[in-house]
Amino acid sequence: MALIVQKFGGTSVGSIERIAQVAEKVKTFREKGDDVVVVVSAMSGETNRLIDLAKQITDGEPVARELDVMVSTGEQVTIGLLAMALIRRGVEAVSFTGSQVRILTDSAHNKARILHIDDQKIRSHLQAGRVVVVAGFQGVDEQGNITTLGRGGSDTTAVALAAALKADECQIYTDVDGVYTTDPRVVPRAQRLEKITFEEMLEMASLGSKVLQIRSVEFAGKYNVPLRVLHSFQEGPGTLITLDEEESMEQPIISGIAFNRDEAKLTIRGVPDIPGVAFKILGPISAANVEVDMIVQNVAHDNTTDFTFTVHRNDYSNALAVLQKTADELGAREVVGDTEIAKVSIVGVGMRSHAGVASRMFEALAKETINIQMISTSEIKVSVVIEEKYLELAVRALHTAFELDAPARQGE
Ligand code: ASP
Ligand code: MG
Repeated sequence: MALIVQKFGGTSVGSIERIAQVAEKVKTFREKGDDVVVVVSAMSGETNRLIDLAKQITDGEPVARELDVMVSTGEQVTIGLLAMALIRRGVEAVSFTGSQVRILTDSAHNKARILHIDDQKIRSHLQAGRVVVVAGFQGVDEQGNITTLGRGGSDTTAVALAAALKADECQIYTDVDGVYTTDPRVVPRAQRLEKITFEEMLEMASLGSKVLQIRSVEFAGKYNVPLRVLHSFQEGPGTLITLDEEESMEQPIISGIAFNRDEAKLTIRGVPDIPGVAFKILGPISAANVEVDMIVQNVAHDNTTDFTFTVHRNDYSNALAVLQKTADELGAREVVGDTEIAKVSIVGVGMRSHAGVASRMFEALAKETINIQMISTSEIKVSVVIEEKYLELAVRALHTAFELDAPARQGE
């Protein structure tokens, strides 16, 4: 018998039929004797609908506190429905909102952080043999105000509950059957991973693999909550996300390939090579609230140097204007930008113990005559910026080079 926290996302509770299916699934765990806490999102589309209503009545500027009051109702509907569906199936169940449990958060409305979870109420209902259904995405602050945790926050609710209850596993049910080596739409031979570490998952998630809310993975890593991503309505083992980094001979060095098209590149040419220049360039960028991702400064030549960095594409024109101003002040030669770039990264803890991973990556790209514009590395990741139009080719080539392709099926 285990204590399991199960989270079902918006599409999994998107209709009455689906909620009934979720109830059936929960019932099978209960019948095996597991203690089950279920966290649900709002029905798919509902959170967007509610936010839109708030925007309509405020000309697009909702009041943060009041937005939380109404947007949190999406989850309140699904917990009640699921509890009823369980009870009708003879499964004892009870539902609670975040504030009823007392999921205590700070007061940062719309993006609150969980500070503490009162586990008493949940534990006593579990002991009495009930399934406890908890509203995801929401909590309450010290003053009793309703708060929400940011989009996708139900994942974080589930992980935080699992940590507080010391659950054996936190299962995230969704519309994919696990975490893949890369996006199967780009590489049909992408494979579901049996296992991935928190660290790798964080890199994959922050690089654009949108299976889990990043904060929930951070939380799970911090409290060592075993996390499993599974398909809501198909059987299968899913992908386990854990701490452990067991080394096996068959384990590939690279676990996955992440990519995104969300960035743009800016270069300032011919800036004087003197102390403080990087700060003069990036200070105003950060003052304009633009986040910088990759940064490259060239070796100086003729006492001047070039400086290149990437920002989110949405921030591109803003950053370009700021940089142009800096260039005028510094007497730089020119500013150039490019929005048609993509970032591709290989991720794997195996890199720590294997040499030559980056060069193998560069070799695979060279074979396809893909030019690398920028490179950055961390302990378990190598990222390159390339021309956007080669993105898919690059991902496929790397997937093959690092032996991640699934074996060919018959007829392929
Ligand atoms: N319903 C919220 C959202 O759509 C929270 C969640 O689904 O995790 O962002
Ligand atoms: Mg979600």
